Amino acid sequence: MTRTGIGYDVHQLVTGRKLILGGVEIPHDRGLDGHSDADALIHAIADALLGAAGLEDIGFYFPNTDPRWKDQPSRVFLEQIRGLLHRQRAQIVNVDATLICEAPKIKPHIPAMKAAIAAALAVTPAQIGIKATTNETLGFVGRQEGIAAMAVANLEMAGGNISP
Ligand code: MG
Repeated sequence: MTRTGIGYDVHQLVTGRKLILGGVEIPHDRGLDGHSDADALIHAIADALLGAAGLEDIGFYFPNTDPRWKDQPSRVFLEQIRGLLHRQRAQIVNVDATLICEAPKIKPHIPAMKAAIAAALAVTPAQIGIKATTNETLGFVGRQEGIAAMAVANLEMAGGNISP
C-alpha cells in the first residue's frame, strides 16, 4: 500500500544566523531563526514523511524545548525518521518539495540539497524533488521576512500495517 504525507514549515529570517536549506549552507546576509538550524525545507520533508507513515509530527519527536536538538543540523531529524520508517516497514518511494523564497537564488544549490537529503534518508537523489519559487514580492515571503517550504512524501508500507 502506498501512502502520501504532506508537510509545511516556515521560519523567520534574522541577522546573525547561517542560512541552511536542504542541509546546505547558502551564502546570504541573514539566516533562519529556530531552535535547530531552522532548515524549513528539511522540516517540511520530515513532516511529510511522518504524516505518510501515520506517525506524530516533527514537534513531537524533536521538541524545541529539548536541548539535544539545539543548533543541531536538521539532517539528524531525517536520519532519526529513517529509523522510525524502517520500524514501520515503510520504504520511501519519493519526496517532492517546494521552497518559497524571495532571495537568495536557490536553483544553483538544488543538486547539493538533493544529495544531502538523499544521503540522510538513504535513498537516491532521483527520489528527491526540490523546486524553488518566489512569492512575487507578496506577503511575508515577498518582504523577505521568512522562508517557507512545502513537501509531499510517498511511502510503500509493507502489508499496509500502521502500528502506533
Ligand atoms: Mg521548523
